[in-house]
Amino acid sequence: MKRKATITVETERLVVISGSQGAAATLWCEGCQAEVTMLGLDEATALAGLSNRAIFQLAENGAIHFVETAAGKAMFCVRSLRQQTQARATRLLNEERKD
Ligand SMILES: [Zn+2]
Repeated sequence: MKRKATITVETERLVVISGSQGAAATLWCEGCQAEVTMLGLDEATALAGLSNRAIFQLAENGAIHFVETAAGKAMFCVRSLRQQTQARATRLLNEERKD
């Protein structure tokens, strides 16, 4: 549980850094049916620890929600990104656990 808390703190910090660079926005997410923080591609890959290609594949599969802005820039839903990273982190923790 301690490790999981650390991972969460690190992702929060990434979001804060991204926000300061203007690469994050609060937008309506159809997938969440809620207003969520959306990140640009660079920030989304940093948060999820995935390649650009992997992010787009997950978005196409519906695993990550995204919207396209009026400027044609794709923005990715932090909530769905987190679900992806948490699923990955949980798998790692389960693999490391010995009891
Ligand atoms: Zn969403």
